[in-house]
Amino acid sequence: MASDAGKVEMLFFPYIGGGHLIPMVDLARVFASRGAKSTIITAPDNALLIHKAILRDQKLGHDINLHTLESPSAPISFGDMSAPPFTDTTVLREPLRQLLIQRPPDCVVTDMFHRWVADDVHELGIRIIVFNGSGCFPRCGEDSLRRYSPHEKVGSESEVFVLPGLPDRIELTRSQLPKFDRLPNKPPTMMNWEAKIYGSVVNSFYELEPAYVDYFRNQLGKKAWLVGPVCLCNKNIEDKAGRGQEASIDEQACLNWLDSKQPNSVLYVSFGSLARLPPRQLLEIACALEASGRPFIWVVGKVFQTVAGGEENWLPSGYEERMVISKKGLIIRGWAPQLLILEHAAIGGFVTHCGWNSTLEAVCAGVPMITWPLTAEQFLNEKLVTDVLRVGVKVGSMDWRSWKDEPKEVVGREKIQTAVERVMGGGEEAVEMRSRGREVAEKAKRAVEEGGSSYSDAIAVIEELKACRKDGKF
Ligand code: UDP
Repeated sequence: MASDAGKVEMLFFPYIGGGHLIPMVDLARVFASRGAKSTIITAPDNALLIHKAILRDQKLGHDINLHTLESPSAPISFGDMSAPPFTDTTVLREPLRQLLIQRPPDCVVTDMFHRWVADDVHELGIRIIVFNGSGCFPRCGEDSLRRYSPHEKVGSESEVFVLPGLPDRIELTRSQLPKFDRLPNKPPTMMNWEAKIYGSVVNSFYELEPAYVDYFRNQLGKKAWLVGPVCLCNKNIEDKAGRGQEASIDEQACLNWLDSKQPNSVLYVSFGSLARLPPRQLLEIACALEASGRPFIWVVGKVFQTVAGGEENWLPSGYEERMVISKKGLIIRGWAPQLLILEHAAIGGFVTHCGWNSTLEAVCAGVPMITWPLTAEQFLNEKLVTDVLRVGVKVGSMDWRSWKDEPKEVVGREKIQTAVERVMGGGEEAVEMRSRGREVAEKAKRAVEEGGSSYSDAIAVIEELKACRKDGKF
């Protein structure tokens, strides 16, 4: 990977888990399609799956490769799409260091969750670009919270406060904040590695959140290139169906099922790669979906193991059979080909946990959302969807929880049904949301086309790295 040829060489180091690995692979593919030489670090266990997408891009003439790192001490799995955050990746420290010494690239694009990478790469005199996985809006929200501590001025967990200093009126409650953000006198936001990074690439696009991109760049002083939505680099069925891991349903069967439904009539329900809901919550969802009378695709991932057990029997009696016979509901246990589903004309609404990737994928497909945040920065993403873009409605999720904790409260079937009706019922609110959704989806597509804002930002990264190479600048 020696930087002697003309091409800028970028090494992508994804983190483990669907929400991190999937967009990073897309990101590497975006840069290769814009003229960089992209190399993705991976582990042997999922190299095979990513390999198919990479081979397709190579056939198109893109300069993209995988490099498999193996740890001498303990194997590390990049193939587990439900891997929890904070998995220790330091076993890859020495193999990565050796690779960088032998073949130094122009820059390493690393997921922010590899907290050790910045120190190591900086020490070797190689530029580091961080990929943090979310948009500018949640970063601005977090900044407001840290700067003004509005949550310390309310009397209870459920009292509403406004995030000061933001371009829009954004309200939250303390119960919706991560536990560590609720503590008084939180340490300053700057992580010790931030000074070592050259800039950030963001999976978003300027027209989605312009005021927040400006805030992020100007008020927070971040050098940031917006190059998304990276999911739009998936152009054909194979690309769209094969993201992350093999789907648990035959993609053609899934498409046939959708083809048999009216436009905008089907609800898609998924909580991403990691979330585990307890049986009593799944029961509420099952009952609400059936009572809504609308066709649905429901991706049931891992079920939260409660102390009481009972993982198997959470569905009402005869439920699945009824759904099969009536062709009302398709339940996918495991992994769904999400992009394919969201883009289908029959999909009219998406019940989502507001993970950033799912949010952007819905935006690109122009599908209105029923927002059901659970953890991480999802409660802020919800506000962007419902209060700024106004392309979704809240289900009424109030409690942030760690991915490993059982939720204190469940969202009842009535609340779910009300939200479903608001989005799927065809009322004025729904019509307007759908029309705004279509507009923003168009903007997303334009952003990644030649001359669009994200297209230009990706080229700007490459040009800047080239210029650095000429100047010998670090
Ligand atoms: N995903 C998928 N099929 C599934 C579940 C998830 O393709 O059954 C993909 C989804 O399209 C998205 C990613 O996994 O690209 C999940 O990322 P997100 O940020 O939405 O949520 P997280 O999984 O990180 O909570």
